[in-house]
Amino acid sequence: DPKNHADWEVAQDAEKRMKTIYAIADEMGLTEKELLPYGHYMGKIDYRAVLKRLENKPNGKYINVTAITPTPLGEGKSTTTIGLVQGLGKRGKKSSAAIRQPSGGPTMGVKGSAAGGGRSQCIPLTPFSLGFTGDINSIMNAHNLAMVALTSRMQHERNYDDEKLEKLSGMKRLDIDPTRVEMGWVIDFCCQALRNVIIGIDGVNGQRDGYMMRSKFDIAVSSEVMAILAVAKDLRDLRERMSKIILAYDKKGNALTTKDFEVDGAMTAWIVEAVNPNLIQTLEGQPVIVHAGPFANIAIGQSSIIADQVGLKLSEYHVTESGFGADIGYEKFWNLKCHYSGLKPDAAVVVATIRALKCHGGAPVPAPGKPLPEEYNSENVEWVEKGCANLLHHVNIVKKSGVSPVVCINAFVTDTDAEIAKVRELCEAAGARVALSRHWEHGGDGALELADAVIAACEDETEFTPLYSWDMPARERIERVATEVYGADGVDYSVEALRKLKAIEADPKASELGMCMVKSHLSLSDIPTKKGVPTGWRLTIRDVLVFGGAGFFVPVAGAISLMPGTGSNPSFRRIDVDPDTGQVKGLF
Ligand code: ADP
Repeated sequence: DPKNHADWEVAQDAEKRMKTIYAIADEMGLTEKELLPYGHYMGKIDYRAVLKRLENKPNGKYINVTAITPTPLGEGKSTTTIGLVQGLGKRGKKSSAAIRQPSGGPTMGVKGSAAGGGRSQCIPLTPFSLGFTGDINSIMNAHNLAMVALTSRMQHERNYDDEKLEKLSGMKRLDIDPTRVEMGWVIDFCCQALRNVIIGIDGVNGQRDGYMMRSKFDIAVSSEVMAILAVAKDLRDLRERMSKIILAYDKKGNALTTKDFEVDGAMTAWIVEAVNPNLIQTLEGQPVIVHAGPFANIAIGQSSIIADQVGLKLSEYHVTESGFGADIGYEKFWNLKCHYSGLKPDAAVVVATIRALKCHGGAPVPAPGKPLPEEYNSENVEWVEKGCANLLHHVNIVKKSGVSPVVCINAFVTDTDAEIAKVRELCEAAGARVALSRHWEHGGDGALELADAVIAACEDETEFTPLYSWDMPARERIERVATEVYGADGVDYSVEALRKLKAIEADPKASELGMCMVKSHLSLSDIPTKKGVPTGWRLTIRDVLVFGGAGFFVPVAGAISLMPGTGSNPSFRRIDVDPDTGQVKGLF
């Protein structure tokens, strides 16, 4: 019973009865060779074989799961993604989920492993949470290999003249501008001490110890290599993108790419296995495809296009999650991921909880690690009503894309009938379907109302239209998202951001680049403490990055770092191993 047990205890109990990966693959419709087993309960899918075999088969229905603006209370998006697949299963529909592989940072920090929760989780939880089949490690290696190429080249170009360079390796000088090195290193933990570092400090070997410069570490899942994995349609596409990652600029201001450093092929070699999406199961034995990484605030934060293509060929209903609220994850799904995939969703679920709505409506914001303020355990329809403004804002974002929204109230045992009735009333008045769902407590049986609402929404006419055309100048695109999606009055730019945006706008190839905004997920605005629907504010763009390989420019709004920090009460303090059985305890 999830009311009396932690998520990992519920998961480990269910794991005693879980199906083998062979059974999951067989029921899903994979042939023997298309499953690449990884132990008894996990596997990878040979996506190329599947997509070739089913080339002419029509796709199933495509459903996105998004949410209101996250609060420290958690909205249960992953839980609902899994719950919906379980509910569709109870209705006799062949369905699958696509979720992202958790990052070690949040798993060891405060957020947990993102496997869902209660009776709607994916299993086996432990390997899923701790490295899984190694995709993030491979991505980290590919990324850091580019840094090895860059830093060693800088050293050699400093130490040798042109003639010697040519003689040693046939290399021409790239003339890297040390003040314009764009790329840093990556690691899959949250470590604020690595945000700004000095590398190449002279040691006993003097100049042979490298080129001394300021450098940085970002979290691995924010790597451009991860973004490439998310948006690539196949290995060929991925290989091409891998050659266009910008590492630095030369002294004349020209971009220097992975291809210039001749490292793009080897980087791809590190991730050929990672291109195949991973397969595990829900607590009720349906397929869950896991591919690409989290963090829709600082990265694209979508499950991969490859995972969705496979799910859509094999299922009647394929449910894909995008990170955080509809302003962040859904906006990128809508205007970036679907642009690259050419796929169109049939419905989108907006997840909300009564508790989180109270938080948006004015109840005291809970502090991490502290007991929940009393306000969250007693009825308060007024706060819920006020908080619904945030929910309706997200519902309208989905509507603006031309897709039918289904509001899912992810039920907590503390919710009251009057609070639920208020949400229903307001959402129905705004033209959205609403379903109360008890999947966390009851699994698929608790998600029938949600499944039915989604099945009905998938039959609605959709007119999925992008918010902006890629032909529009960069600043106009930013302004459109800021005003129409976030609700800002306008946009301000730092001098640095303006300089970079003008350069992008002057580039005739700019229309080949999409846009992937970096913004706080904790508010519709760029100020994380502003809950509800902030008004009378302007978005500040502090910096702009260009991800030439992934194919987008990245406006960075507000003060947000690509390397999150670890706080004073991280979850690693509570994680341990039973030395007799090897079972891991304390994951969530
Ligand atoms: P998100 O994807 O929005 O970050 P998750 O699905 O990962 O959220 O859920 C976050 C946490 O909240 C998990 O520990 C999960 O067990 C818990 N949770 C989710 N839904 C419920 C619910 N209805 N009742 C109680 N706890 C829940």
